[in-house]
Amino acid sequence: MSDLMKDPMVLRQIIMDHYEYPRHHKLLNDPAYRMTHMASESCIDDIHVQAKINNGIIEDVNFDGKACTISTASTSIMADLVKGKSIEEARKIINEYYAMINGEAYDEEMLEEAIALQGVSKQANRIKCATIGWHGLEQLINESEAEDGRK
Ligand code: ZN
Repeated sequence: MSDLMKDPMVLRQIIMDHYEYPRHHKLLNDPAYRMTHMASESCIDDIHVQAKINNGIIEDVNFDGKACTISTASTSIMADLVKGKSIEEARKIINEYYAMINGEAYDEEMLEEAIALQGVSKQANRIKCATIGWHGLEQLINESEAEDGRK
């Protein structure tokens, strides 16, 4: 990771860019996607996250709903990061991200733009915002694996 990526201004710009122009910000009415509803009691965040998971690959992730800057940016970055990855890779990324948010050691290379959210580890009241979309994806992965296990 370059030093530029550790510049607080650069990190802030990444968050604002994903907030103003969120990626994968839509919901498709397609039965190939599984969807979950996530809401926060401590913030306006009330979003749906959907994922298309096939043969252990996360082919696509979308989200939409009411969401604050942190939850919009963190979910947009998450969708960018895990799209096209295997469930195994996605779980590693998710765990590194939770480690960062909890103020523990983490792998910057694996998190790419998600390191923009590193400051949240010092703002306990924003942790829910920064992880709501990630928990949604994790839930969809768990459901997908549970269903595959039954087959
Ligand atoms: Zn929020």
